[in-house]
Amino acid sequence: MSELRLNYDEVIRRIEDACRRAGRPRESVQLIAVSKTKPVEMIREMASFGQTEFGENHVQEIEEKSQAFPGVHYHMIGHLQTNKVKKVLGKTVLIHSVDSLHLAEAISKEALKRNMVQDILAEVNAGNEESKYGFSFEETEEAVRQMALLPGIRVKGLMCVAPNTADPEENRPLFAKLFQLSVDISSKKIDNVLMNELSMGMTNDFETAIEEGATYVRIGTALFGKRNYGSE
Ligand SMILES: *Cc1c(COP(=O)(O)O)cnc(C)c1O
Repeated sequence: MSELRLNYDEVIRRIEDACRRAGRPRESVQLIAVSKTKPVEMIREMASFGQTEFGENHVQEIEEKSQAFPGVHYHMIGHLQTNKVKKVLGKTVLIHSVDSLHLAEAISKEALKRNMVQDILAEVNAGNEESKYGFSFEETEEAVRQMALLPGIRVKGLMCVAPNTADPEENRPLFAKLFQLSVDISSKKIDNVLMNELSMGMTNDFETAIEEGATYVRIGTALFGKRNYGSE
């Protein structure tokens, strides 16, 4: 068996175990295989295992890979510049990283031109880190209300990139807080807003994220191995 296959089976097993511990159905968590910096051949191979969702953080990689291998879903998970919206629309099922109203407006405008509605998540800077993008916890509800008024996008939930810690337990309170925020916003029943999705958890902490309610986990290193050149 290839190393990729072994890694894949191991990650799936760990997701299943976390779901069992949390008393959640396996189908309530989707794996996004974060293939950034990795060649399209690896995407092709992982797709042959049945994997359908892939995550990329650079517009250029989504463009190239979706052209070379269009048979899977690409998720935009990295910071998106307004002037690159045109390039990524139509090539991504979900933009996880909508971190400003300005960006949401640009996506909506471009989507309307193309007669489509783009699914998005609002990114929350859950750890309040200066180096990270996203709305603060306090700003998020109002941002979502504003986004809900934009006809070219549909807000499906929240996303966060938690602090990079060796001990996943350190991020548990933050994941729990993000889950609670999504429940709170959901209870307000804002038109054009669904709070069904929670994109949180990476290689170091995805099991904790699942236990706290993640519906998407974004996993790169545990599947594809270390990345050789910086793209984060
Ligand atoms: C790179 C990246 C991931 C995957 O990180 P790993 O630690 O390699 O699993 C997840 N989410 C985002 C936004 C990323 O940029």
